[in-house]
Amino acid sequence: MTAELIDGKAFAAGLRARVAAQVPTFQAAASRAPGLAVVLVGEDPASAVYVRSKGKQTREAGMESFEHRLPADTGQDDLLALVEQLNADPAVDGILVQLPLPRHIDEQEVLLRISPDKDVDGFHPVNAGRLATGMEGFVPCTPLGCLMLLQDRLGDLSGLDAVVIGRSNIVGKPMAALLTQASCTVTVAHSRTRDLASHVARADIVVAAVGRANFVQGDWIKPGATVIDVGINRVEGKLVGDVDFASAMRVAGAVTPVPGGVGPMTIACLLRNTLVAAHRNAGVPLAG
Ligand code: NDP
Repeated sequence: MTAELIDGKAFAAGLRARVAAQVPTFQAAASRAPGLAVVLVGEDPASAVYVRSKGKQTREAGMESFEHRLPADTGQDDLLALVEQLNADPAVDGILVQLPLPRHIDEQEVLLRISPDKDVDGFHPVNAGRLATGMEGFVPCTPLGCLMLLQDRLGDLSGLDAVVIGRSNIVGKPMAALLTQASCTVTVAHSRTRDLASHVARADIVVAAVGRANFVQGDWIKPGATVIDVGINRVEGKLVGDVDFASAMRVAGAVTPVPGGVGPMTIACLLRNTLVAAHRNAGVPLAG
């Protein structure tokens, strides 16, 4: 048996096109385009690549991109002052501070300072709380993208057994909250989990967000399960996921490849969150 590939690249392109198609209607109602501000502190090469591609895709969707590149030695107070300025700017609907920040900056304090109504990354504790309690808010982009891929493939997820491997605030925890809300029976596994393979073996849905190359083995996976690989690991110059792709493909029903699976969904969901933020901030109803 060979699993189907879940084409996140194609799905993300469709989502970006749907977002772009809604921009002119917003613009007509609000007399401005939705705006996303991205703040990059320092020269981390991977972060610089992400920021460039966020800016490019934002503009391609017809939105305004405000890019703020600050030197690595920027002080905490200056960064907080910029966040406050963006909070107050009516042209800015979404604010994204690219992580990781340099060590001398308190990441938590910066994320706390972003207005929850402009927190399109969904990292503010107010949005985490809204997600946990089922209130409308902003959901972190990567798990939101994973949920969309799962719903696209499986339709109604209710009653399915799901294992999320990883409990980070950015991926694992919000993923588990989304799957719980979708009425899955959710197990959250982490580095202290005993006999991980036995948990994975029961799961109809496996989401791997571990940060260890080729970690989840095909012979752990229940035949026919849907496997979402969030991991991005560089091995000998090549990108690989957290799932051992070759062995998973022999057992699973469907698998997201790395690259081309979850990765492209993250920016597409960021644009979607920015569109939603713009409508909420401008008091314009969003169709669909
Ligand atoms: P973190 O390092 O914050 O979290 C990793 C999680 O994996 C932790 O909860 C950790 O457990 C758990 N873990 C570590 N070792 C094991 C183990 N042996 N068995 C079970 N669980 C284990 O990573 P992130 O959540 O930020 O990212 C995870 C992966 O996803 C990374 O590869 C990252 O690059 C990728 N990523 C991809 C994105 C995309 O756009 N596609 C976006 C964000 C991340 P514990 O809590 O006990 O330490």
